[in-house]
Amino acid sequence: MTQHDLTLIHSEADSAIEVLDLKHMIDGAWVASASGEVFDRHSPATGQLISRAARGGVAEAEAAIEAARKAFDDGRWSDVPGSERAKLLNEVADLIDKNRARIAFYETMESGKPIAQAEAEIEGAANIWRYGATLAWNIRGDSQNALGPDMLGMVLKEPIGVVSIITPWNFPFLIVSQKLPFALAAGCTAVIKPSEMTSATTVMLGELLIEAGLPTGVANIVLGFGDPVGAVMTTHASVDMVSFTGSTGVGKAIVAATSGSLKKVSLELGGKNPQVIFPDADLDEAADAIVFGVYFNAGECCNSGSRIIVHKDVAEVLTEKVVDLSKKVPFGDPLNRDTKVGAIISADHKAKIDGYVKEAEAAGAKVRLGGDDLSVEGLTEQFYQPTVVDGVTANMAIAQEEVFGPVLAVLTFDTFEEAIALANGASYGLSAGVWSENVHTCLAFARRVEAGTVWTNTWMDGFPELPFGGVKESGLGRELGPNGLEEFLESKTVQMRLGKSRQKWV
Ligand code: NDP
Repeated sequence: MTQHDLTLIHSEADSAIEVLDLKHMIDGAWVASASGEVFDRHSPATGQLISRAARGGVAEAEAAIEAARKAFDDGRWSDVPGSERAKLLNEVADLIDKNRARIAFYETMESGKPIAQAEAEIEGAANIWRYGATLAWNIRGDSQNALGPDMLGMVLKEPIGVVSIITPWNFPFLIVSQKLPFALAAGCTAVIKPSEMTSATTVMLGELLIEAGLPTGVANIVLGFGDPVGAVMTTHASVDMVSFTGSTGVGKAIVAATSGSLKKVSLELGGKNPQVIFPDADLDEAADAIVFGVYFNAGECCNSGSRIIVHKDVAEVLTEKVVDLSKKVPFGDPLNRDTKVGAIISADHKAKIDGYVKEAEAAGAKVRLGGDDLSVEGLTEQFYQPTVVDGVTANMAIAQEEVFGPVLAVLTFDTFEEAIALANGASYGLSAGVWSENVHTCLAFARRVEAGTVWTNTWMDGFPELPFGGVKESGLGRELGPNGLEEFLESKTVQMRLGKSRQKWV
């Protein structure tokens, strides 16, 4: 497949990079691994060494959990008034803003995402910390004052305890910021493990937490792999809750791992998010949102709009518009401010993406655009072309599974019922979208589609005030919004008898 008609941004001059030496943050101290082991992260776009991180083992995971346990049990954070917790969260937000350029740079260098996008994510993350601060002021339970003159019932909200926070590589700073401020607002303590491919910015956040004055041991960071660090964090008796974002497969493994001690689990998992386009839709608006939905973060996004279900009457004209727009999206050097789509996270992952396209083609689907590696002058081989695959049927893997790459699957429908059946016909249920100028069609779709979030005539807007999460195999629980705080709170019922009115049993 030729790439001559795509929009490409070549590499800029070589820039010198300060290679980061990343350590665990345990009980307020930066420590190397007892084993002395480290692992390296190279930029997926340039191949340069970006960071060298301590490789955590069982000892580091256990030490971090013990520190978080002690910090929770002695009340050094849970006893701090909500207003004071809010002050600290706001301070962290301000520090994130102050350090935005540096955080965004390393986010880009480790993940391959475009620099302008990384900066917007870090700015958005700071605002989530500010929103979390408002919740810290508002930890409210309930009361029941109609149980009779001698009884008062109260429901107290208490922090759940020690939380293990495990995050993926695609939005490292944003995702930890969808969890930690809410856990801290609630009064919990935490142990955090970022993906081993993108540890740097979580460590930077740790530095900011210390600078803001978070008491020692309240937040701890352990670097390393799912095995053994994640495994200890999901099975250790001193952990009360696991908050995980990642793949559905690992999410299921975590549910199994935590079942021994029945920990609370909150899971933000994958998606195979459909956008359904009715014939009365504004096709130009829809085409732009479809292109954004599928190529944003190179498609390595739980919310990727990786399949469209389009009415047969407009399928050809819409697909043409999408193909034309796809050619205009600037792919290439993540450090160039005009770039919209950067590198793929790893060579293995790129091969997996390509495998889905080739398999669909072999099964009779038609590759209308792309479907191959992308070569960008001066950069690595870890780029993939914007790809549109037409003639996809519901039984194909490309229609059912997360491709997690810049690949759009196009399916068609005739009737509303058929569109709903196709939209709901995957095991996932994270997000869905509908395009129609008829508000009744939009509402009927929103009611029938199985998804945690529905967008009508738009795609992937997000606000800290609104909850986010999935149904079916896309997850358990909700982040953001008031629900984001609620996840980290436990209810305690208190029944107070007034006076000596209790009837004796004997
Ligand atoms: P993974 O599920 O592979 O990994 C996520 C995290 O879990 C990593 O830190 C990983 O460590 C760790 N981990 C791996 N195995 C275990 C284990 N047995 N116990 C505990 N922790 C473990 O996901 P990816 O990093 O590949 O991220 C991509 C996935 O994340 C996609 O499926 C995507 O849809 C989903 N995602 C969902 C979002 C949502 O909000 N719904 C948002 C963003 C992504 P390591 O890899 O370092 O070994």
